[in-house]
Amino acid sequence: MYLVNIFKGMAITLKHFFKKKPTVQYPEETRPFSKVFRGLHILNRDEEGRERCTACGLCAVACPAEAITMEAAERQEGEENLYREEKYAAKYEINMLRCIFCGYCEEACPKDAIYLSQTFTPSNYTRKGFIYKKEDLLIPNPLTDPEGFKKAQGEIQQAKETI
Ligand code: SF4
Repeated sequence: MYLVNIFKGMAITLKHFFKKKPTVQYPEETRPFSKVFRGLHILNRDEEGRERCTACGLCAVACPAEAITMEAAERQEGEENLYREEKYAAKYEINMLRCIFCGYCEEACPKDAIYLSQTFTPSNYTRKGFIYKKEDLLIPNPLTDPEGFKKAQGEIQQAKETI
């Protein structure tokens, strides 16, 4: 009697052993995201590596979570290679603990400056670590890292298709 139950149990184990597993070996393996997935923000640059953001504040106004803070500054002489227009964001921060990844900021931006990428927010040990500064958000400069810039442009293109 017991032997029958043992064989039954073994048969179930064997059946599941050869079945396709519903789980993946994360982080080595990841599932593809949906096309409309919105991950971590990126701040765009133009082809000459200049920051596109002019600190107009429309993203901060559109943000329902009040996650964006910025400080505007005037571009000085000799900084034309750094900032695309006369004004730029001297400080730009996004609080990822507040953000709900709705994408309103990228929709509101008139300067092609902010997008939500396919990268999702990494974990962190402190609350401070979730405040992303401009340096964390800016995409690589095409003059110093053309490959990184190209990769970021691919993510931006994907984001544009889903806005
Ligand atoms: Fe705010 Fe939404 Fe942009 Fe997050 S994705 S910063 S919540 S507007």
